Amino acid sequence: MQAQCPICDANITLSNNIEVAEIITCTECKNRLEVGSINQKDVVLKEAPKVEEDWGQ
Ligand SMILES: [Zn+2]
Repeated sequence: MQAQCPICDANITLSNNIEVAEIITCTECKNRLEVGSINQKDVVLKEAPKVEEDWGQ
């Protein structure tokens, strides 16, 4: 499975059992991406919502 990073246009190889809403990290720009939709072999990625979780560091 391959998808394209919406931020840097890099091609990203995904595991075959990827699921919608899964969060992955772009290997090029290191941004967090969310799987938006999967149409057969076409995976659409979108920028993951920024979750500024404060775990108290
Ligand atoms: Zn990227």
